[in-house]
Amino acid sequence: SSNGHRGGEDELGSSATKAHFVLVPLMYQGHVIPAVDTALLLATHGALASVVATPYNAARIRPTIDFARQSGLPVRLVELPLDCAAVGLPEGADNVEKIPPELHVNYFDALALLAAPLERHLRAHPPYPTCIVSDFCHAWTAGVAASLDVPRLTFFSMCAFCLLCQHNVERFNAYDGVADDNEPVVVPGLEQRIEVTRAQAPGFFRAPGFEQLADAIERARAVADGVVMNSFLEMEPEYVAGYAAARKMKVWTIGPVSLYHRHAATLAARGNTATATADECIRWLDGKEPSSVVYVSFGSIAHADPKQVLELGHGLEASGHPFVWVLKNPGFYGEAASEFLEGLEERVAGRGMLIKGWAPQVLILSHAAVGGFVTHCGWNSTLEGIAAGLPLVTWPHFSDQFLNEKLAVEVLGVGVSIGVKEPLMWQVAQKEIVVGREAVEAAVRSIMDGGDEGEERRRKAVALSEKAKAAVQDGGSSLSNLLDLIKRFEVVDAAGRTKTE
Ligand code: UDP
Repeated sequence: SSNGHRGGEDELGSSATKAHFVLVPLMYQGHVIPAVDTALLLATHGALASVVATPYNAARIRPTIDFARQSGLPVRLVELPLDCAAVGLPEGADNVEKIPPELHVNYFDALALLAAPLERHLRAHPPYPTCIVSDFCHAWTAGVAASLDVPRLTFFSMCAFCLLCQHNVERFNAYDGVADDNEPVVVPGLEQRIEVTRAQAPGFFRAPGFEQLADAIERARAVADGVVMNSFLEMEPEYVAGYAAARKMKVWTIGPVSLYHRHAATLAARGNTATATADECIRWLDGKEPSSVVYVSFGSIAHADPKQVLELGHGLEASGHPFVWVLKNPGFYGEAASEFLEGLEERVAGRGMLIKGWAPQVLILSHAAVGGFVTHCGWNSTLEGIAAGLPLVTWPHFSDQFLNEKLAVEVLGVGVSIGVKEPLMWQVAQKEIVVGREAVEAAVRSIMDGGDEGEERRRKAVALSEKAKAAVQDGGSSLSNLLDLIKRFEVVDAAGRTKTE
């Protein structure tokens, strides 16, 4: 279908034949960060990239986008207001951190209301988009793409292993007749024997109250024009191929997208303004032996129970290794934990660094002094650890994290499981789960000085990171995919269409 609105020059005077990608991330840090990295990558390699964000998130990423624009990259921020009142959300609740759990589903209703303003914006600000790259959680972008008559790709900052496991479990009804949520079930249709439980892998948004959303997301995914994935082929070739075949879709693996950043300045600003400055972290790490420091973080959402904070702190102290521990907002843990943390900080002065806020994570992970990563297995963190060549202590909390743990431990052989078997948040554990200090100490020792087994794990981690880095270089699979993606969504005729239409 030809479309009279297409074409036009943008404010950077760029040619209207360029591919113009509109990235619509879910407004969680774990989704926004890789989407922004992807936008920067696309813009670096000759496409225009627009990133859609609501005000709270826009404020966080604006410094990064502005910096990129100043360096001449054709990337822009599309800030759209979120109509909280329309769906009964408190004013300004435009981020997961500010939304009471019982109103979570309303938040998704508010996001769906972005459809009309986004379409209006895109029509009014040339050049016309040639491709919408939508987070898989946004089913409503299917309508926007259809109405604008442009293709839509689904964006995942998830691994193909996780997506294929989840897909197969659902397609073959693997949980049918399984009464106990904690009973292991073999994932059907894989060559390697992988077991999951319904508690660990219930399916995306398969929680009470989210039924309609989950169905809409599945429908939108099924009819997308392809998949963009923050993963790399050499890490999981059979799963990338398996997922593409299962979905009957092209999958462009373009990661690890965090490797886009090569300089301390852009790294330190990634995602948010860091509490500990890049200089501070680098100076501290420069004083440590190579591969001697453990980095401990549970991502942007998970908050440990105060009892868990104590056990974790004691375990790190007992491990004898220097550590950087990201606590996010310590006010959250209550008085007892705060007192403990103060005491700990004094006892481990010089050996332990506590970051009470946002950490420049990738900057820290890529420092030569860091030798291991205790992670909640959010996919971004997992892949960032892999890209840095680090063995992992895997400590999943919720969502895809259990499957990411299985990839790291059982498929790639670069992780040691802390042993948590049930989710801690959102899908809420049946019982209190606190990992004891001995288990923390043992897991840290096992990745940091674990004898032959530990060395083998570290060797695998380093080899994998070399593959990751090669993937994003000239001739590498991820960069080739990125270039292919850009080529495919260039304008090829006077009506403004791309090859895929
Ligand atoms: N992150 C960071 N500093 C922090 C906490 C998180 O830079 O203090 C980044 C981290 O590098 C990753 C993202 O935030 O890119 C978190 O995503 P992930 O998928 O690991 O976990 P989630 O936050 O979604 O649970």
